[in-house]
Amino acid sequence: NLPGKVALITGSTSGIGLSVAKKLASQGVHIGLNGFAKPEEVTAIRKEIESQFKVKTFYHGADLKEGTQVKSMVQETSKALGSVDILVNNAGIQYIETAVNFPEQKFNDIIAINLTAAFLTTKYALPQMLDKNWGRIINIASVHGLVASVNKCAYVAAKHGIVGLTKATALEVAKTGVTINAVCPGWVMTKLIETQIQQRADQYKISFEEAQIKLLEEKQPSVTPVSTDQLGDLITFLCSNSASQIKGSAYTMDGGWTAQ
Ligand code: NAD
Repeated sequence: NLPGKVALITGSTSGIGLSVAKKLASQGVHIGLNGFAKPEEVTAIRKEIESQFKVKTFYHGADLKEGTQVKSMVQETSKALGSVDILVNNAGIQYIETAVNFPEQKFNDIIAINLTAAFLTTKYALPQMLDKNWGRIINIASVHGLVASVNKCAYVAAKHGIVGLTKATALEVAKTGVTINAVCPGWVMTKLIETQIQQRADQYKISFEEAQIKLLEEKQPSVTPVSTDQLGDLITFLCSNSASQIKGSAYTMDGGWTAQ
């Protein structure tokens, strides 16, 4: 059911978002990209996806902190590629500090990027999905949408929020052919967690690789990271017709993190 559909994936210039973009492209889905990257990096990503998978691509550099840019990203992607049938709200940032010392601006930025932007893309993409009576919205939450960790108050609040947003919006469209779900990964080795690994390496005076294992051991019983490829496969499944009755769920892929 996927060939010819159009997906808009926020934060798809690296990490999980880029992997999801390639997985969906491999199913014949045209790809709307977003995220920060140098123009030559964007050109290289677009070229690779277009030549490897023979699909169309479009890039919009919206800063998701800015509501007006989020709106024009949805509109311009839809105009360039014909529609937005699949929306993957993936962009996210992290900041680690106690609540007492957390900079107010940083808190607001995390809520804006990790939560409000997903509300806005949903608001602007959902009407065309409802018109066609088919659509998929997948919100990349986190295990931190279900449980907390210390010194991550903004991230945990935003991720719990996006799980709530997923449930509420999924119910609004439950009788239609549009499904809205969240995905809750444990540790995935991307740029987002490099700083956290480096901090542990510095703190314990150990190598980056040893610090990576230490990080996994603290929370993820499998002591193995989730791969971006595995997440891409889960998201592709959620886009399939087999997943049409999965609505408002928060799928974990976390090596056992939230089973504890
Ligand atoms: P990443 O840093 O590799 O990718 C983040 C993407 O978001 C990049 O493309 C970046 O350019 C984009 N981005 C950041 N701020 C933006 C803004 N203001 N406007 C537009 N784009 C912006 O990180 P990742 O690990 O691939 O993270 C992707 C998602 O997965 C995030 O929502 C993150 O919270 C979630 N997640 C990651 C992990 C993990 O262990 N890596 C675990 C659970 C959930």
